[in-house]
Amino acid sequence: MEIIHISAECYPVAKVGGLGDVVGALPKYQTKAGHYAKVIMPKYETKFLQDHEFVEDFNGTIYLGNWELPYQILKEKNNILGFDLYLVDIKGLFDRIGVYNYDDDTERFMAFQIAIMDWLNHWQHEPDIIHCHDHHTAIIPFMMQHCYAYKNKMEKIASVLTIHNAQYQGWMGWHKNHYIPHYDSWKVGLLEWNNLINPLAAGIKCAWRVTTVSNSYMQELSWNSNGLEKLFEYEKGKCSGIINGIDAEVWNPTTDSFIENHYNEKSVVVGKQRNKALLCKEFSLDENKPLIVFIGRLVGEKAADILPNIIVSCMYAMPDSINFLILGSGDTQIEWQLQNLNNQFPQHYFFVKGYNEALSHQMYAGADFLLMPSRVEPCGLNQLYAMRYGTVPIVRSTGGLQDTVIDMGVEGGYGIRFNHAAVGDVHHSIYRAVTVYEDAKKMLAMRRLMMSIDNSWEKSVENYLQVYQQIKD
Ligand code: ADP
Repeated sequence: MEIIHISAECYPVAKVGGLGDVVGALPKYQTKAGHYAKVIMPKYETKFLQDHEFVEDFNGTIYLGNWELPYQILKEKNNILGFDLYLVDIKGLFDRIGVYNYDDDTERFMAFQIAIMDWLNHWQHEPDIIHCHDHHTAIIPFMMQHCYAYKNKMEKIASVLTIHNAQYQGWMGWHKNHYIPHYDSWKVGLLEWNNLINPLAAGIKCAWRVTTVSNSYMQELSWNSNGLEKLFEYEKGKCSGIINGIDAEVWNPTTDSFIENHYNEKSVVVGKQRNKALLCKEFSLDENKPLIVFIGRLVGEKAADILPNIIVSCMYAMPDSINFLILGSGDTQIEWQLQNLNNQFPQHYFFVKGYNEALSHQMYAGADFLLMPSRVEPCGLNQLYAMRYGTVPIVRSTGGLQDTVIDMGVEGGYGIRFNHAAVGDVHHSIYRAVTVYEDAKKMLAMRRLMMSIDNSWEKSVENYLQVYQQIKD
């Protein structure tokens, strides 16, 4: 099968969160399974793009309303990712370092999608599946079926939309309606949700199949999806949940190039202790105490706003018993509060502001526990990486966390789960963590068990292929 993945992120080209990890891995494993998967994404000014060679595959001109925009499609020359990587180069819109959070994101991602439609429309053949990821690409299924310029060629091609996060929907006012190439005006209702153009809603209505990144999240969307609850309930017949895998070539404690001391299930105690010692030295923490880490975006979805109170509460209740190391960026108020605690609890707490891929690997490898109090967690990759590195996850029972972590109180369990994103619940879970840390035998058993769990992409690739196959048959 020929599968075209369209996405705003793809690791290692450009990554902000889990979307990048998934789009960097899924096509690779689909290719390994004998299919022909390609990725098409914007050409940002990231280091990867500056360091690799590209050749022009196509060029053309599109219109965003009255705005004429020349674009170029570039192809990575040496297939170094294990699949074909194509970039859409639109000068003035994507030649910037960041991926999101610009005032003209609507214009950027509309132009990106229109350029892809224009390019695909010029192909001599038809791919089997157009696979869109999140709202930045979610108007494509609508355009394939209802825009006059594309429908002749594209309406019979199957489209799949994967929702990695339904909180963000790409809303735009109707005054931007003219950005969308001329379409059958009887179909205008497909674009609309709550009086706005809602790209994610349009994608859910128009894609042939919709998937999300875990079963529990799929169910949660019917009662918690930032305004789309009724739509998910109505469209549930074509929706399914497929849990993400992890790229075991990138996330592997026996080979990880970001970590100093490699280890496996047998050598986990020594390997972890060495990596932990390095981390503790770097951030002046106490290597003899349990190390609890948090890695992620500092936003309400991740319940990062309760982190400062959790830390204060635990530091006072269990003085000298724990270390916290936090890596992330996001809400400035949260960043500021976490930064302030650096002075309050030296030797037991450190906050590193920013995005740091290498440090994140070192933290998965060196930590004893990983905390994820998320209010919303569609799949969550951090807990899967933690498990692969023998780090016990402490997670709220929601979305993909609920589907992948079993509490240590249950037979065969290896993690710590709690129900509410509230300081009391997390505090109690950390107390359980500190207690079990004293039990070296139990810790080792949990570490070995987690490391042996197969969360690789192969299973998920099979599930995606079943979805493709069902719509093709
Ligand atoms: P989301 O996509 O909602 O942010 P996921 O758990 O799906 O959350 O994926 C998060 C990914 O981003 C993981 O690979 C995690 O290690 C990485 N990550 C998040 N924040 C940072 C950071 N500040 N530095 C390095 N990596 C980060």
